Amino acid sequence: MRIRDVKVLPTFVGRRNQFILKIETDEGIHGWGESGLSSRELAVEGAVRHFREFLIGKDPMNIGALWQEMYRSNYFEGGQVLTAAMSAIDIALHDVKGKALGVPVYQLLGGKQRDWVPLFAHTQASGQQMVDDVKLFVSKGWNAIRTWMWAPDERDAQGRRIFEPRESIAPTAHWLTKMREGVGSEPMVGIDYHHRLSVAEAAAFCQRMPRGTIDFLEEPIRDESPEAYEALRRMTDVPFAIGEEFASKWQFLPYIERGITQFARIDVSNVGGLTESMKVAGWCEAHYVDLMPHNPLGPICSAATVHLAAAVPNFSWMEIRSSPTEELGFYDREFFPVQCQQDGPRLIVTDTPGLGVEFDEERAAKQEYRIGETRHLRRREGAITNA
Ligand SMILES: [Mg+2]
Repeated sequence: MRIRDVKVLPTFVGRRNQFILKIETDEGIHGWGESGLSSRELAVEGAVRHFREFLIGKDPMNIGALWQEMYRSNYFEGGQVLTAAMSAIDIALHDVKGKALGVPVYQLLGGKQRDWVPLFAHTQASGQQMVDDVKLFVSKGWNAIRTWMWAPDERDAQGRRIFEPRESIAPTAHWLTKMREGVGSEPMVGIDYHHRLSVAEAAAFCQRMPRGTIDFLEEPIRDESPEAYEALRRMTDVPFAIGEEFASKWQFLPYIERGITQFARIDVSNVGGLTESMKVAGWCEAHYVDLMPHNPLGPICSAATVHLAAAVPNFSWMEIRSSPTEELGFYDREFFPVQCQQDGPRLIVTDTPGLGVEFDEERAAKQEYRIGETRHLRRREGAITNA
């Protein structure tokens, strides 16, 4: 079997673009992949065009060798754009291989270790609404929940969005404390600060809550500097959840080996696909760190993540953007007639050969890709702050 073509089909589905990739083979088997470098899809498309030149004519079964060739046969290896492109290709190759062998992808990764994948839900609400949302999740059987920081919709005179990191700390800590008093000690509740704080602000935030208020703190600061995270690690005992932006095992290395992160927020569509994810998972297992995968995209990333979750022993909860408080249209069945089945806080591991997801190319052809920017945030005096 040989690769005949590598196509990109960036498509707006629900409230976001999904960077869909298709690998076609000379035996009529095709595979689907998805890249996760959201809002920079055109750059990833360019990277795929470069890789396509030497992938055509190759044997799609040799996934590990193709990964090495894509990563190492560049003088300027790695980086988020190239690895996002490689991720989509690697996922699609696994889909092809599973279909060719007549087995679900988890069989290519060592076999099934769980029948369904536990999910965590997200609420973007603030204040009393956040407390009510967490109670709603618990009442509907969700026992892992992620919340969001206090971030009122404030604009400056030019209509630009304002976020003051320091001002968010006290109300966020106050309402999380109220939330924990309301739901008791059992449910696992964390917060995503979306790397909007400094080391000092993140430490102060943790100090404003009684111990045990939150079970994890996701991305309190930016992640370019493991040394900065180590400084923060010494200032609080709240577990961290880091890694959704990491684009290789080497970026995970200091965070795992130096005990900086306690949950690995691995993103299969950014880290280098399933090939790289399995290596990170093994490394995490050696350090008793569980995977808590980042999954904000669509059904292809979800399916790839489900197979990863099925095949590893060290796993906690997988992100899903479909819950009692969120219906964002990412899993639209008009575009994805075959996809994973969700049962409340569980995603069922599919036994369909390959990934177990199909994309309607003809439907997608009628839907344009929309160039989009992520939010830009400013302090009141006009300076840029992390989005
Ligand atoms: Mg996050």
